[in-house]
Amino acid sequence: MNNAVKCPVCNQGDLIEGEKGYMCNHFKNLEDKCSFMIFKSYFGKEMTPELISQLVVSKETVFFDDLITKGNKRFSAKLIIENGVVKPSFQNKMLDSPCPICGKKVHVLSKAFICEGAFNKDCDLYINKNVASVVLSDYDAEVLLNGSSTAYRNDFLSSNNKLFGAKLFLDNEYQVKFNYEIGKCPKCLTGSVSVNNWAYGCSNFKNHIKCDFTVWREIFGKKITPVEFLGLCQNGRSEITKFKSSKNEEYTGFYQFDKDFKLVIVKSS
Ligand SMILES: [Zn+2]
Ligand SMILES: [Zn+2]
Ligand SMILES: [Zn+2]
Repeated sequence: MNNAVKCPVCNQGDLIEGEKGYMCNHFKNLEDKCSFMIFKSYFGKEMTPELISQLVVSKETVFFDDLITKGNKRFSAKLIIENGVVKPSFQNKMLDSPCPICGKKVHVLSKAFICEGAFNKDCDLYINKNVASVVLSDYDAEVLLNGSSTAYRNDFLSSNNKLFGAKLFLDNEYQVKFNYEIGKCPKCLTGSVSVNNWAYGCSNFKNHIKCDFTVWREIFGKKITPVEFLGLCQNGRSEITKFKSSKNEEYTGFYQFDKDFKLVIVKSS
């Protein structure tokens, strides 16, 4: 290796090339030393400078399917750094969808989805799995790579610890972005409906259209989830459900929009 590589375990020493591999040179005394080492090959795989830099930067390599055991059997694994040592890990896979930037394969790592080309800097597609405390599934990543939005969900956690709802999509620079729109406004038909702590409201509320479409998140003693809200907009009414009258008597019915897009209950007989 031409340039000194910082030790990923102690972050103090440099990895120095020796006969068998690259050893951390951090040694102050017997208590304060580091014995991290990357061997020159693992299971028949030669550790090229690219592989070493993958391992040091990401604490893991791409998935190999041509590793050889001591008993000369082929097996598939990636190399990871765990508890200060390099060892194989067997849970890597690849997504079906190719990288939208360069067309190469996209690997599923423990903390991210990353394009094969990203390790040698040919490509910079890197999607962190953790987005505002939500862990993206492989399916979510496929959806994003295909240029679509993920389904709306309401368990994102903001940096000041507030839950919020959104869909995710990749912007023009292939960065994950939030879209807070649940759906189009059924009243003005042009605004986007998003939700805050109390209500679903239209984005045209503030501008010249002054759309006053509002649906409380809790109404008639019911909480309306974003999924139910979407159904309400699509079908114009809710599912049949139970209500309690002011005299505490139960009855069944549904709620729907009236002509002003206010919610009203319709009793079912
Ligand atoms: Zn070290
Ligand atoms: Zn790529
Ligand atoms: Zn509207």
